[in-house]
Amino acid sequence: MNGEVSEAMTVHELRRLKEPAPSAAKERLFETPPRAGDLAERASRVAAVAARHADSVDRDGRFPLEAISTAKELGLMGVMAPRRLGGEDAGLGEIADVCYTLGRACASTAMIYAMHQVKVACVVRHGLGDPWREGFIRRLTRDQLLVASSTTEGSGGGDVRSSEAPIEYEGGRIRLTRAASVISYGVEADAVVTTARREANAAASDQVLAVFLKSDYSLERTLGWDTLGMRGTCSAGFTLRASGDGAQLLPVAYGVIHAQSMVPAAHILWSSAWAGVAAAAVEKARKYLRKSARTGAAPPSAPYFTRANASLRALRALIATALDRYEEVKDDPDALSAAGFQTEIALLKVDASELAVAAVMSALRCGGLSSYRNDSDVSIGRHLRDVLSSPIMINNDRILGNVAASALLTEVPATIRG
Ligand SMILES: Cc1cc2nc3c(=O)[nH]c(=O)nc-3n(C[C@H](O)[C@H](O)[C@H](O)COP(=O)(O)OP(=O)(O)OC[C@H]3O[C@@H](n4cnc5c(N)ncnc54)[C@H](O)[C@@H]3O)c2cc1C
Repeated sequence: MNGEVSEAMTVHELRRLKEPAPSAAKERLFETPPRAGDLAERASRVAAVAARHADSVDRDGRFPLEAISTAKELGLMGVMAPRRLGGEDAGLGEIADVCYTLGRACASTAMIYAMHQVKVACVVRHGLGDPWREGFIRRLTRDQLLVASSTTEGSGGGDVRSSEAPIEYEGGRIRLTRAASVISYGVEADAVVTTARREANAAASDQVLAVFLKSDYSLERTLGWDTLGMRGTCSAGFTLRASGDGAQLLPVAYGVIHAQSMVPAAHILWSSAWAGVAAAAVEKARKYLRKSARTGAAPPSAPYFTRANASLRALRALIATALDRYEEVKDDPDALSAAGFQTEIALLKVDASELAVAAVMSALRCGGLSSYRNDSDVSIGRHLRDVLSSPIMINNDRILGNVAASALLTEVPATIRG
């Protein structure tokens, strides 16, 4: 156990000493004790570890084990779960801030954490009320499981609303064999949540979402992950062979989960991770300017710092607006599924990814050669390579194509606030 974590435990124990003893019934509710420190403080501790290892994670294309282990030890994996199942009832806004904090330190760590929480959000919202699935969430919070996602399939790739491989049924059991061409941290994950065709005769868009624990599946590697950026996500390809209990299928059609949970959570949390990467680049540009200012007049590239800052400001405002809108409609399934919200949340990903790339590019232009170098303390290289994954992670062109049809049904707003 490293220094940060043991310190956190001490704070926790101190807090428990000060608190009145919980009743026996209350004690039983928590299979794991509540963790020390608030979410922001714990996120900063993980970010500090992630920052120390970010360069080697990127260089070696390796899983950020130190950072994710620290996140587990600080109890960050199950925070979105309800308290009665050992979680902390954390909302999407709090998790977005964790992703932003981690993104400033290590993009791969932030994206891994974001992808994990997207799957947790889906299971928590649509999976409760069944002993197997509630048991899964209890295990998630108690053992701090890391959950991977499998949506991309075969060579066709990015259409999340289409699945080839069907669920096969035998008695109360289910089976799935899928060409999972990208599963981030597939090897390191403790569980996988995957889309699948409902059954062999179902249409490709008639999908379900299944939860499998590591003991339920095997992975046979079919593709590596030697990429420009996001190298630490280790998003290799596999043949996924899984089997389990019928209760491991979420009882709601994936189309509903997609609209109400998957897309809002993914687009808000991914955008927050990319905003963190953009913030790291802006920080480097600021450092470059401050150093240059000490030796004389502000360099002529200073306006690029203003541009980088402006892009980051717009990006943060965009995410904050999306979060506010989500908070307004999150308890209303009809409003969540309505064309207006779906268009907004789909376009969040497109706009956020473009603003994040713009911010990092402006930071690079600000620092000039110093930032272009890989061996300077204001290098932007890693941030640029990482952020360039954002427009292609569910391709912006595909999203714009999909949104075009529903956008036709939406009135052009009559006022600024709509
Ligand atoms: C860092 C990272 C981590 C990932 N992790 C996972 C994971 O854990 N699990 C998982 O399942 N997947 C994961 N993915 C994959 C991701 O979900 C998408 O499936 C993938 O990014 C799509 O890749 P693609 O460009 O090949 O596919 P496509 O979306 O099929 O795009 C292929 C090409 O077609 C073009 N195109 C597509 N649709 C249109 C259109 N309507 N109009 C015009 N052009 C179009 C695109 O511009 C692109 O050039 C990850 C991706 C990244 C970058």
